[in-house]
Amino acid sequence: MGLYIILMGVQGAGKGEQARFIHETYRIPHISTGDLFRAMKTREDELAKRIQQIMAEGKLIDDDTTNEVVKDRLSQPDAANGVILDGYPRTPAQADWLEQYLAGKDEKVSAVILLELDLFTAFKRAFGRVTSAKTGKTYNIYSNSEGIEWQFVEDSDGAKFPPRLQARSLEDGEELQRRPDDASAHAIIKRIDTFIQTTQPLLNYYQNKELLKPVNADQPIQAVGEEIRRVIDSVQQA
Ligand code: AMP
Repeated sequence: MGLYIILMGVQGAGKGEQARFIHETYRIPHISTGDLFRAMKTREDELAKRIQQIMAEGKLIDDDTTNEVVKDRLSQPDAANGVILDGYPRTPAQADWLEQYLAGKDEKVSAVILLELDLFTAFKRAFGRVTSAKTGKTYNIYSNSEGIEWQFVEDSDGAKFPPRLQARSLEDGEELQRRPDDASAHAIIKRIDTFIQTTQPLLNYYQNKELLKPVNADQPIQAVGEEIRRVIDSVQQA
């Protein structure tokens, strides 16, 4: 039997980090549908252009197209022993398709790992985060703030920009960068809202199939990895 892991979690829950850990530990590829769609940017065909348009509008790609892209990826040789799916399925119809596709190969979803993080912590991880362009190091005003001068900057009448966080290295004065999509509190909240709306039906779907495995994501990265390893080892032995 292959190892088919679905990884879910709100932005900031550490999905990328844990996908890397699972990949290194179990030697199965990490498939992110968002990455697959972004990689089509350089293609000139109609389908690729339509996908870029839909993504730019912040909407979901239709289920049939998404399933086709996933099918193509799952049929590649490196996916023969299983995969980590990230960003897929996003709808119960995609989950149904995946179940049928895997059944056709005598396979099934092994576990759906939900990286659980309370939403206020998720917000703080995104809103408080800055990165040094020089060293690539990341800091956070709420959890890892040393060596940085932090300042909330307000426009006096609020007309030009909403209050924002600025960070400067005390060592060399470098102005640290925020990811553009983390720069506005409003945008972060909207992403969290979207996550709740789209994910809840899937959580119910996989809960009913007894595949949902919640893991506490509010602990050090390694401890989260250990919990994930326990979950995967136990489903492999079952
Ligand atoms: P992500 O990087 O996972 O946030 O995905 C970026 C964009 O790709 C999304 O906003 C959607 O437009 C599209 N996308 C990714 N995964 C899916 C999916 N499973 N179903 C539909 N659209 C998707």
